[in-house]
Amino acid sequence: MSAIYEMLAECAGENQVFCMEPMSRHTTFRIGGPADWFVAPQNAEQLQAAVSACRRENLPFFILGNGSNLLVSDAGYHGVVIQIYKNMEKISVDGTKVRAEAGALLSALAASARDAELTGMEFASGIPGTLGGAVTMNAGAYGGEMKDILKNVTVLDTENRIRKLDVAELGLGYRTSLVKKENWIVLEAELELMPGDVSAITARMEELREMRTSKQPLNYPSAGSTFKRPEGYFAGKLIMDAGLAGASVNDAQISEKHCGFLINRGTATAEDVWKLMEKVRRAVWDQFGVVLEPEVRLLGTFPEPEQLR
Ligand SMILES: Cc1cc2nc3c(=O)[nH]c(=O)nc-3n(C[C@H](O)[C@H](O)[C@H](O)COP(=O)(O)OP(=O)(O)OC[C@H]3O[C@@H](n4cnc5c(N)ncnc54)[C@H](O)[C@@H]3O)c2cc1C
Repeated sequence: MSAIYEMLAECAGENQVFCMEPMSRHTTFRIGGPADWFVAPQNAEQLQAAVSACRRENLPFFILGNGSNLLVSDAGYHGVVIQIYKNMEKISVDGTKVRAEAGALLSALAASARDAELTGMEFASGIPGTLGGAVTMNAGAYGGEMKDILKNVTVLDTENRIRKLDVAELGLGYRTSLVKKENWIVLEAELELMPGDVSAITARMEELREMRTSKQPLNYPSAGSTFKRPEGYFAGKLIMDAGLAGASVNDAQISEKHCGFLINRGTATAEDVWKLMEKVRRAVWDQFGVVLEPEVRLLGTFPEPEQLR
């Protein structure tokens, strides 16, 4: 057994460590080559041990949630992917506060909030990410964002210290946060919700679910919105107006249902997706003078994007 395997197994247990793990299994795009190492800690102590071992040994590592905002290169990732998902997904409710581990899915959190007759979380019920990924990206939809409901977040900082930060200390902005900028790792978070009426909450969640199903290509693998919303515009509308609905590179395609989504029609590679993203950026720049920035995070090696300005 290699020294890296033994090191990771000591931190998180032998059953939780995998070598050459295909990342296509862990991304909603269903794309991505193998991670040299993949580990799924079962609690904050194991996570802290794995992160600290990687840092000590100078091994690159990446924190993964549900992989719903991620494009992994075809050559994979030469390092350790540390997944915070199903092994760390406990949720507890206390009055109007909902506390959860970073691996809890937003859909599960929204369901727990509804069952506890708490409102405020409905906007996030259809976002297919974990709480950790949602805090990092300040995920949002239908007029709500994580910033509105977070009370505090417990992170592991780059010095391997556990810190509890108030929402105001997280620098949450449009699809960004200090968690992302400072490379902190979300361990758990507390949400502050409001007492609500179960039937109204359920109706709102159902309404939003129907809106998503009717407007988004949910029957194909994707990573949601490919590009951030440029100030004053909508990325999907710009892409549609550039005549790119249905444009494709092999099996990577701009959805005809919603041009903001780039879908995998079956056998798309990361290279196909990347080439299509570049084609879209170039066309939108040429026609409207707007630079589209990816919302999707890239992991592994990709060519430099074309400088458009
Ligand atoms: C069909 C579809 C619809 C979507 N709709 C929306 C939407 O309406 N609104 C929206 O905002 N997003 C949307 N998304 C994108 C995505 O679901 C969100 O960005 C989500 O918050 C990502 O969470 P994740 O757990 O999947 O993160 P991942 O994709 O696994 O990771 C995303 C980033 O977060 C980091 N990260 C993950 N977990 C942690 C952690 N515990 N600590 C520190 N960093 C962490 C990763 O390192 C990475 O940089 C959609 C995606 C899909 C596929």
